[in-house]
Amino acid sequence: MCGIVGYIGSAPILPILLEGLKRLEYRGYDSAGISVIKGSKLFTTKTPGKIANLERLIAANENGKNGKVEAHIGIAHTRWATHGAPNEVNAHPHHDKSGQISLVHNGIIENYSVLKRQLQEAGVVFKSDTDTEVLAQ
Ligand code: GLU
Repeated sequence: MCGIVGYIGSAPILPILLEGLKRLEYRGYDSAGISVIKGSKLFTTKTPGKIANLERLIAANENGKNGKVEAHIGIAHTRWATHGAPNEVNAHPHHDKSGQISLVHNGIIENYSVLKRQLQEAGVVFKSDTDTEVLAQ
């Protein structure tokens, strides 16, 4: 079980994604993350713990060298871990090796280990222990 939020629109995106995650936090709260598209680039922030941790991290990033995120398309996830420890690497969103795809997922990919082995044999290097990354890759 997890919580997923997506937004496309002209309103400031981070408050919408974060408020959505807070409303869904009861569905999963071991880690959380967001990805937004700015121009053609994906920006992802992930952290273990509650949404408040993610909110603090995003605020610190916005006050840091990268400045405000003015994106209009984004996804967000609050996780209930089934495959892999609740840490930053295993938090969603997950990416493919090109960095062009960012994916959040609810539930379990039953045949993930077969798919993961096939992808590894084809040269894909996995970053996380999740079943979800198989789908992104
Ligand atoms: N199976 C995925 C994971 O462990 C998704 C869990 C969820 O639904 O939050 O990362």
